[in-house]
Amino acid sequence: MPDPISRCTSCGIPLSREHDVMFICPNCNNVQLGRCGNCRNQSAIYICPGCGFEGP
Ligand SMILES: [Zn+2]
Ligand SMILES: [Zn+2]
Repeated sequence: MPDPISRCTSCGIPLSREHDVMFICPNCNNVQLGRCGNCRNQSAIYICPGCGFEGP
């Protein structure tokens, strides 16, 4: 299992507790992704480091 993610997958900042979201990549179901509140609000693109999937 991958380590729990601690940084935003989109911008790389450490995740805050209040607005962060963590989820498993919907494409490979094998990699944990994180998004900070800022990237979430902006619907920033994330790229799965495991499979290269890009998603909002
Ligand atoms: Zn971010
Ligand atoms: Zn993936």
